[in-house]
Amino acid sequence: MELANRIKTLAPSATLAITALANELKGKGIDVIGLGVGEPDFNTPEHIIEAAYQALKEGKTKYTPSGGLLELKQAIIEKFAKDQGLSYEPSNLIVTDGAKHALYLLFQTLINDGDEVIIPAPYWVTYPEQVKLAGGVPVFVETDETTMFKLTPEKLQQVITNKTKALIINSPSNPTGMTYSRDELSALGEICLHHDILIVSDEIYEKLIYGDEQHVSIAQLSEELKSQTVIINGVSKSHAMTGWRIGYAAGDEALIKQMTSLASQSTSNPATPSQYAAIAAYRGSQKSVEEMKLQFEKRLNLFYEKLMEIPGFSCVKPHGAFYLFPNVKEAAKLTGYDTVDKFAEALLSEAHVAVVPGTGFGSPDYIRLSYATSEDILVEAAARIKNFVETKM
Ligand code: PLP
Repeated sequence: MELANRIKTLAPSATLAITALANELKGKGIDVIGLGVGEPDFNTPEHIIEAAYQALKEGKTKYTPSGGLLELKQAIIEKFAKDQGLSYEPSNLIVTDGAKHALYLLFQTLINDGDEVIIPAPYWVTYPEQVKLAGGVPVFVETDETTMFKLTPEKLQQVITNKTKALIINSPSNPTGMTYSRDELSALGEICLHHDILIVSDEIYEKLIYGDEQHVSIAQLSEELKSQTVIINGVSKSHAMTGWRIGYAAGDEALIKQMTSLASQSTSNPATPSQYAAIAAYRGSQKSVEEMKLQFEKRLNLFYEKLMEIPGFSCVKPHGAFYLFPNVKEAAKLTGYDTVDKFAEALLSEAHVAVVPGTGFGSPDYIRLSYATSEDILVEAAARIKNFVETKM
């Protein structure tokens, strides 16, 4: 059967692939530690589960408007006002089947063949694939430790052409955990305004920032920047709700309207009980969000320290999200592998630790390790990797 051209070049998600491989080995009875996952290991807070259960019992099991329940949109509007001082109308919002689908609808609605989207690397694996699926061209800008993996105004200027349609900013970032400051965002925003480039601000890890630092959305810096930005967010990471599939986009009314039409012709609406759960997530107590964050921060400190004891590993300490993204080129070399991909493969097959090679994130000298797992497991994983490297040196 001849398949569509657009699907032939689509790369499957590297992070989901490594998790599948680790599970396959586990199925064979091998004690594999999986650090590939991109989801909190905590269960969804009880009051959120209860709200979904109540909704089901009350018969809230039917279709909703394609863009999501008005009540949920209002809860999201309250959240934006409280957290960022941003004011939106329901017509500026679409609720989607996870943040990933908000991005999908956005690119399908925005991009014409040949339009360029600037993606700072390392990037979340999904961005370039979704841009390509929409007929767009991902334009990568490499970043490294010297700028804490952040895009600088100079680098941004260098890649802008008359085909540039959008820039993706992901703060806190998957995979590096870096966060942009107000001043850094302001400088990038000014350039985007000047060239009329839409800013796609993926803020899904907003609630996972450690220390005293506060999350800043580029949209809160000025009215002009708010008009020029589409914020992508959701409850998956903040409220340990990855499986409920609720995300959203906030932005220009005309754009959101067309994204909603596309949703109406593809998914109809996000699952109704999940929408009620998301209302409870935003309107209920945020204590569990804070508690989960503290746990993540403790794990980060522990795991970072352990990883830094491994020969050939170097890593800038992240400020947010739940990943470490060390440069392990030296460790690969020390252990006799000519690429980090091969080193990562050996970590899985020999040390039985599943990590995601940086190639999928556009940075082949690195690996991504998720610390969304218990402290005991993290200590064991670090010990296995250290032992593997030291034995092979
Ligand atoms: N954006 C980033 C940067 C992510 O890491 C993820 C999930 O891994 C998403 C968006 C998608 O989130 P959701 O599960 O709500 O689709």
